[in-house]
Amino acid sequence: MISNTDMYQALVNKDASFEGIFFAAVKTTGIFCRPTCTARKPKVENVEFYVTAKDAMLNGYRPCKVCNP
Ligand SMILES: [Zn+2]
Repeated sequence: MISNTDMYQALVNKDASFEGIFFAAVKTTGIFCRPTCTARKPKVENVEFYVTAKDAMLNGYRPCKVCNP
């Protein structure tokens, strides 16, 4: 089971091995991203993690225009 800490690390490191494993949604912007997105990374307290892009959208997030999740 992958922890939020692991996912946050993967997000900050743009770790491609986590591509398709999770999506990171940013509470302050209402946008969600792939782990490898080149957009500026949010603070850990502002991130929520979702397993699918659909889950993120159902929670009111919009796909990022940079990484197109
Ligand atoms: Zn993005």
